[in-house]
Amino acid sequence: MVDAHQTFVVVGGGLAGAKAAETLRAEGFSGRVILLGDERDHPYERPPLSKGYLSGKEERDSVFVHETAWYAGAEIELHLGQPVTALDRVDRSVRLGDGTVVHYDKLLLATGAEPRRLPVPGTDLAGVHHLRRLAHADRLRKVLTSLGRDNGHLVIAGAGWIGLEVAAAARGYGAEVTIIEPEPTPLHHVVGPELGQIFTQLHQDHGVRFHFGVRLTEIVGQDGVVLAVRTDDGEEHPAHDVLAAIGAAPRTALAETAGLAMAARKDGGGIAVDASLRTSDPHIFAAGDVANVAHPLLGARLRVEHWANALNSGPAAARAMLGQDVSYDRVPYFFSDQYDLGLEYSGWAPPGSYDQVVIRGDAGKREFISFWLKDQRVLAGMNVNVWDVTESVQELVRSGRQIDPDALADPSVPLTSLS
Ligand SMILES: Cc1cc2nc3c(=O)[nH]c(=O)nc-3n(C[C@H](O)[C@H](O)[C@H](O)COP(=O)(O)OP(=O)(O)OC[C@H]3O[C@@H](n4cnc5c(N)ncnc54)[C@H](O)[C@@H]3O)c2cc1C
Repeated sequence: MVDAHQTFVVVGGGLAGAKAAETLRAEGFSGRVILLGDERDHPYERPPLSKGYLSGKEERDSVFVHETAWYAGAEIELHLGQPVTALDRVDRSVRLGDGTVVHYDKLLLATGAEPRRLPVPGTDLAGVHHLRRLAHADRLRKVLTSLGRDNGHLVIAGAGWIGLEVAAAARGYGAEVTIIEPEPTPLHHVVGPELGQIFTQLHQDHGVRFHFGVRLTEIVGQDGVVLAVRTDDGEEHPAHDVLAAIGAAPRTALAETAGLAMAARKDGGGIAVDASLRTSDPHIFAAGDVANVAHPLLGARLRVEHWANALNSGPAAARAMLGQDVSYDRVPYFFSDQYDLGLEYSGWAPPGSYDQVVIRGDAGKREFISFWLKDQRVLAGMNVNVWDVTESVQELVRSGRQIDPDALADPSVPLTSLS
């Protein structure tokens, strides 16, 4: 039983943190709930920052998890604009940037991730951008508008999800877009070369130029202004602005300094938590992008940077903080939208883990489901412009059963009959 005089503190005002605070109240916790975030904006969702909001189709207000007044109504003490700079596990307290010390009985770390910076000369020029925060999206939206108006060039380093989504938004404004990617296809480590080719074609059909197999080595500028980028094949490409979309790193500094166990880099790094999202300190939990979970279904450590994981692991951690039995075994899930292509991906099939890719439907028309299999067992499935199948795809992943690949490829065989 958790007593009503306890204080539960959440560090990180993103989706995982906000949903955890909300769940503490929904589960009837009547002690203090304190949500600490270093951004000035109250908790918001990040997917629209590279899609609807960036492209100008969605209003800024639509991204917030709740209106500001909701937090006061739920008696959640929201402190924004101050980073938590230290964690004292002996005193059970955290210190904010302004020196304020906050005691906790239970603590949740939901500090998310931060964009990696390009390790090249010129990375500090004003025209080099990253995309993680709402403030970044505000700025990039203005940049794309003026690039579109002036026929300007955006160079994107990295053909991952964010790079591709920003490319689609930028083409919508009419900007010239060049993507530099060291691998031979986009999303190489997520969907593999077979499926990656579909994304190359999609973006080329919309006028995006790709340079695969090369690395960006320098951003050339003058008086703070970007003029071009250079790649390791000796080429120079015109650029007015550059987006570094080369991945994100979990924000673990607080946890590491406080001596919490970290997951190995080969397992994705981040704060190591068990299936109940508890860290190596029984009073401290972690959720969202920063947490590396001993995943009961996959039988492996897993850290993912997915919206659905923030949405679900925040509440799961809150329930564990309240002493409930929690086993966080959700099938990993994410989605993306680029031009008129929408997709959902369920499961986990990193490079080398699968021995077969099965396509169900018409990949040429970009209307299909792809499955990644190992020994005829479905590790992951991705539905592209095919809808209302997520539950069936996840059931196939969850069942772990051997499935006839021919039946899987045949759209006349209902997916529900296979799991
Ligand atoms: C542009 C973009 C588009 C995306 N699109 C998709 C998508 O289409 N589909 C999908 O599945 N996923 C998508 N994602 C990923 C998804 O948004 C993340 O997985 C999700 O935001 C993670 O939530 P989180 O709460 O764990 O972390 P975050 O959202 O990063 O929130 C963590 C918060 O903690 C704060 N913080 C960190 N350290 C401290 C500290 N010491 N003190 C105080 N505060 C701190 C951070 O500033 C931040 O506000 C996208 C991400 C981005 C950036």
